[in-house]
Amino acid sequence: MNISIQNLNKVYDNGKHALNDINLEIESGMFGLLGPNGAGKSTLMRILVTLMKPSNGKVLVNEMDLGKSRGEIREMLGYLPQDFRFFTKLRTWEFLDYAARLSGLKNKKARLQKVDLWLEKVGLFDVRERNAGKLSGGMKRRLGIAQALIGDPKILVVDEPTTGLDPEERIRFRNIMSDISSKDAIIILSTHIVGDISSICQGMALLDEGNLSFNGSPEELIDKARGHVWRINTSGTEYDILKHKYPVISTIPTDAGWDVQFVADSVTDINATEIEPTLEHAYVYFMEYLSNKN
Ligand code: ADP
Repeated sequence: MNISIQNLNKVYDNGKHALNDINLEIESGMFGLLGPNGAGKSTLMRILVTLMKPSNGKVLVNEMDLGKSRGEIREMLGYLPQDFRFFTKLRTWEFLDYAARLSGLKNKKARLQKVDLWLEKVGLFDVRERNAGKLSGGMKRRLGIAQALIGDPKILVVDEPTTGLDPEERIRFRNIMSDISSKDAIIILSTHIVGDISSICQGMALLDEGNLSFNGSPEELIDKARGHVWRINTSGTEYDILKHKYPVISTIPTDAGWDVQFVADSVTDINATEIEPTLEHAYVYFMEYLSNKN
């Protein structure tokens, strides 16, 4: 599978430029689209799932033009929107069965087997008889993933999947995503939470105010921050100076003051130690120091 995004622009009716000349190639596997709120992620997702047309530019899916082959491409798509909500009196398994029928699975026996399989995969088998509308927030999100995947889409688009989930549900969700990522499908995950991306994505892109500011692997982004992440044990006054000068990533209170991690191009005025960057460090460093210089 291949998605080729070429010179894509979106200007809303109010004149807002939500996407500026985006060029991006996405291959099979898990792809993370990261950026702060308002960066243009949902706009790009909605164009990819054919819910909205771009102002300019085009998207090719396996060489097929999204603008000309909407029907064909829709059949390949699974979509979990940011505000996936449903009001239903259906039981959990019935809801999934309904989604399976919509995706074209006609044979009842095979369909019910598939429903059970997906209920197992997303950890909802034990609550299959429960009214789907009465599931917890995290369970609803997992049901959302199951309904998007039950038709075996070639392209799965998941918009901000972990917003509002507690840490346990977030980990569970991430595990489900890495389980399904081995297939020959494209899974695009958009998020403003760096931890959603990490090791499960082979490729990633950074969007910043409608511009594509980075495209590569998470490791390549981390490489860019190497030599620019620092740690220092500091007292109150020094910390006050530090936090006004550098973007601080974490502050942990200690007996003597604070254990502070921060990013900086270089540090000469204080006695900080260089540390190995994580993806979160790299994201902050990139957004603060590199993004608008590209
Ligand atoms: P993200 O998903 O990264 O938070 P969005 O794609 O939702 O970003 O929004 C990108 C920009 O476009 C934001 O400034 C947002 O306010 C604006 N925007 C989104 N939808 C509309 C719309 N229907 N009309 C006008 N502006 C919009």
